[in-house]
Amino acid sequence: MLARRQRVLAPTYRLFYEEPVYVVRGEGVWLYDAEGRRYLDCYNNVPVVGHCHPRVVERLARQAATLNTHTRYITDRPVELAERLLATMPRELTSVTFTCSGSESNDLAVRISKVATGRTGFIVTEGAYHGTTETLSRMSPVTGVATAPEVFTVEAPVDIRGPTEFAERVRECIARMRSAGVQPAALLVDTIFGSDGVASHPAGFLAAAAAEIHAAGGLFIADEVQPGFGRTGEGMWGFQRHGVVPDLVTMGKPMGNGHPVAALVARPEVMGEFARQHRYFNTFGGNTVACEVALAVLDVVEQERLIENARETGAYVQQGLLSLAKRYPTIREVRGAGLFLGVQLASKDVTTRVVNDLRRAGVLIGAAGRNGDVLKIRPPLPFRRGDADVLLGALDGVLQHLG
Ligand code: PMP
Repeated sequence: MLARRQRVLAPTYRLFYEEPVYVVRGEGVWLYDAEGRRYLDCYNNVPVVGHCHPRVVERLARQAATLNTHTRYITDRPVELAERLLATMPRELTSVTFTCSGSESNDLAVRISKVATGRTGFIVTEGAYHGTTETLSRMSPVTGVATAPEVFTVEAPVDIRGPTEFAERVRECIARMRSAGVQPAALLVDTIFGSDGVASHPAGFLAAAAAEIHAAGGLFIADEVQPGFGRTGEGMWGFQRHGVVPDLVTMGKPMGNGHPVAALVARPEVMGEFARQHRYFNTFGGNTVACEVALAVLDVVEQERLIENARETGAYVQQGLLSLAKRYPTIREVRGAGLFLGVQLASKDVTTRVVNDLRRAGVLIGAAGRNGDVLKIRPPLPFRRGDADVLLGALDGVLQHLG
């Protein structure tokens, strides 16, 4: 299959792990390979309610057998979904647009910001990832693509001083932008700084950064593609931990538990001029099946109390990681909130070793950070203490073996 894949799939694709995993089935927090071996999935925030959740699958199938059409007819599902999403948001945010991916949502947020402010400058973090379009690839420095001339980067708050200094870094970045003759349209950040290597505490530090961009006449865009849908264990959205009301919120990945559904939520005054000047029609965005799947995901998050579980199990994993840190000096810092954790290790080499050794031990995690030296732990939310023990036990074994 690997050979067939390489023959027909574009060489731009990259596989995870030195020994790639050939998966054929998923269930809950587990993935199964072609030989029937199971792997604990500690990396996948997309199947947020667990792989192949039966209630999501059942509602998807039922809706697919009833009606699937786009947003140019009056249908129930997009309206119900927009109402449900807005009920989780601050009341200043009142307007929902559906797309098919996080990239489409961010790309639209960039377009809207330019029209709303009449400006062109954007600020992102040095290890940011925001998507695949031409515009966003040039706002995603972690990929190695050069940023566009009107995109300015700010050091992410993943270092010790970062959280307290972040607003100041944003202010300096705005000054740098202005001295290059560019006016700031928006600050765009992932509110858990996942690709930068995870920055979470103290909760609230983002508010001062948002105040800086507002004072400069720009907008604050919260990219919730990673932390959204309860992962941080303290409410539905990452920005809520920071007590900040964004101008635009983008979301995707977990929204459909693996099915392509994403959205952008806006303040009406920000959306107004854009809507006057432009129509927006996205053929698949907000289709009936996509919306029904997203409604099912919201129901499961609620019914299975997954936000509470993210908080409780996340705290348990974090405790376990901290006690490993006492025994293994290669662990420099443990960051994160709920079930979004970053473990700062001594180097990229150690991180690569740990990720690959864990894969051999049947536990799937990944690496993050501009220097690739942070373990990224981000399991489906029905991850329980027993699963946490498997992860911690395997990590202990791998670190011990590394010496
Ligand atoms: N924003 C962030 C923070 C992401 O992590 C990603 C995907 N990794 C995206 C945007 C892009 O989302 P998509 O792949 O659905 O286009």
